Amino acid sequence: MYDVKRHLREVNASLKPGVRLVAISKYHPNDFIMAAYEEGQRIFGESHEQELKEKHQSLPQDIEWHFIGHLQTNKVKYIVPYISMIEAVDSLKLLREIQKQAAKADRVVRVLLELHIAEEATKYGLTLDACRELLDGGEWRQMPNVQICGLMMMASNTDDEAQIAREFQTAADFFDEVKTQYFADEPAFCERSWGMSDDYHIAMQHGSTMVRIGTMIFGPRVY
Ligand SMILES: *Cc1c(COP(=O)(O)O)cnc(C)c1O
Repeated sequence: MYDVKRHLREVNASLKPGVRLVAISKYHPNDFIMAAYEEGQRIFGESHEQELKEKHQSLPQDIEWHFIGHLQTNKVKYIVPYISMIEAVDSLKLLREIQKQAAKADRVVRVLLELHIAEEATKYGLTLDACRELLDGGEWRQMPNVQICGLMMMASNTDDEAQIAREFQTAADFFDEVKTQYFADEPAFCERSWGMSDDYHIAMQHGSTMVRIGTMIFGPRVY
């Protein structure tokens, strides 16, 4: 069997102090997740509601699940009762639905706003201007069941490391702007979720507090 434990130990040994690991377990079976769990990993990330539901139901209840994929508003109600963090909020509409469902479930759901900085047209996320607009609008301040904890982004899928570094730095600078402008008095706004298997070393040099790593821990995904 693929040696998840060894790979997880190697990844953990390579993290900068203060950087937390979200083990991205999408498409991987429960025994892979349990191997990582036995090694002490508690935060896992999934990107499909149905797959997450099955895993949540059959795996230990102290796992903190992060939803990292594009979330359709009609799926929000299914994950809100148990999700630890929704990482990829990219519209006010989605934020409103999370508020509505979180109020029903009587909990506060932690979220990150997803930025679109990469060059690929296919990636989701808010442009920097759209993000400023959302925050300027102020509606989020009237959402007692949503806590915005920071920003999330994906760099371009390219071998050009200088470009990847520029994109992470753009996100880091934008985080500072947003922190000062809107969240200066909110210590909970502190997360910068960037860095995946191929680029997390670069991400950690540009302010990442949370890396989302799948392939390096669990091997290639079989779709
Ligand atoms: C799949 C995925 C990852 C993990 O990618 P790896 O290259 O396997 O580390 C990280 N973030 C998001 C948003 C993903 O969808």
